[in-house]
Amino acid sequence: MKYLFVSDLHLEADSPRSVAAFTALLRGEARSAAALYVLGDLFEAWVGDDDPDPLRDAVCREMAALAASGVPLFVMHGNRDFLYGAGFERRTGATLLPDPCVATLFGERMLLTHGDLLCTGDHAYQELRSTVRSDAFRERALALPLEARQLLAAAARAGSKAHTATQRAEIMDVAPEAVVAAFRATGTRTMIHGHTHRPAEHTHEVDGAPARRLVLDAWYEHGSVLMLDGSGFSRREIAFA
Ligand code: MN
Repeated sequence: MKYLFVSDLHLEADSPRSVAAFTALLRGEARSAAALYVLGDLFEAWVGDDDPDPLRDAVCREMAALAASGVPLFVMHGNRDFLYGAGFERRTGATLLPDPCVATLFGERMLLTHGDLLCTGDHAYQELRSTVRSDAFRERALALPLEARQLLAAAARAGSKAHTATQRAEIMDVAPEAVVAAFRATGTRTMIHGHTHRPAEHTHEVDGAPARRLVLDAWYEHGSVLMLDGSGFSRREIAFA
């Protein structure tokens, strides 16, 4: 029995190799998993559950086939694809997870989060996040015509690129004090997140006890899966064809 975790695939029409690698994962290894967790930024953009993009539709169908085969599929919003709603769940067979959430796997409570909440040093980003992730913004955005939402998504993406290009690297990483606070608040000692594109396993000290933080890799040069089975965590890189 094994659980699979991925994040930050940033799938889009311009990245056919990562789309192919994720499709292969869904058709292959994931079929024997106890569950597949996608912890945010599956897609580079999502303009609403009526998103007509053919590439994203094809991926949704592949996900639905995995879910129909009986494998539980969990998806968390990322900062790119935060507009998933009930229609996305219907299109994919996935269950949306709140960010953060706690999952009990092999008897251990583990904190799952996309990770951007922990980047508290980036004040401009956190301000933007609290605006766009509010119910009010979500309702207003989703009420716009599809074409307007597509334009907004393109503008948001360009704005994000311009912002990250001007920020110091440590500002865009997680803040250690936010990590410790998250462990403390949830009573967990294992955390899995993505977002920073800095794959690693970190050790933190929380009230005198060790805690571990596993950071998922982005799917830019290769695919990457974190696996948890009875003997612990391991990682596998998926070469792009
Ligand atoms: Mn992200």
